[in-house]
Amino acid sequence: MLSNVSKMPGKSISLSAFDCQTGEKLSKIPGSVCHDCYARKGMYRMPNVINKMEERKEFFDSIDFVPRMIGLLNKTRSEYFRWFDSGDVQSVRMALNILDVVEATPNKRHWIPTKERAIWLDAIKQYGRKLPDNLVIRYSATMVDQAPPESWTHSSAVVKSIDAIGHECPAPKQQGKCGDCRACWDASVKTVSYHKH
Ligand code: SF4
Repeated sequence: MLSNVSKMPGKSISLSAFDCQTGEKLSKIPGSVCHDCYARKGMYRMPNVINKMEERKEFFDSIDFVPRMIGLLNKTRSEYFRWFDSGDVQSVRMALNILDVVEATPNKRHWIPTKERAIWLDAIKQYGRKLPDNLVIRYSATMVDQAPPESWTHSSAVVKSIDAIGHECPAPKQQGKCGDCRACWDASVKTVSYHKH
């Protein structure tokens, strides 16, 4: 159910980028960070990948998602976990389940990239307490070369023609891998910029 992301120090879990709500709208807008999305072409259109994504969607929506996901995470070796190497949160219920998983796995550090500002704001309100210290939710700017909103505690940007905003992702200079960098999980890093490739 979890995916191996060759670039990253730990595992991830994905959903289909074709089910992204904000991403679906952005994918039709030239110059947006979702236009020409890697997760909507190539192998992501293969039947076996589509089937796997459907299985994961059923898993996310299952009644026992929280205990099963905690079990899966506790079997992983790495301290680092990335949510959504493709796709995004799809509902407030899903976001609340994710927060329960994060809270129950204090031995893991969780990074959640998202464009679903409204869903997370609603979920955080319903959660009603301080977010766990082992979590960084990074809200993504919607357009390439645009700064993310200052109001979000942690954010990310995609840059092509302007200088990096905040921490520049070093992966392109190190064979596409994170290496020793853990900036995306680091709560002291407000914004991470990725180069558009
Ligand atoms: S900023 Fe660092 S942790 Fe984030 S993707 Fe790039 S190399 Fe990995």
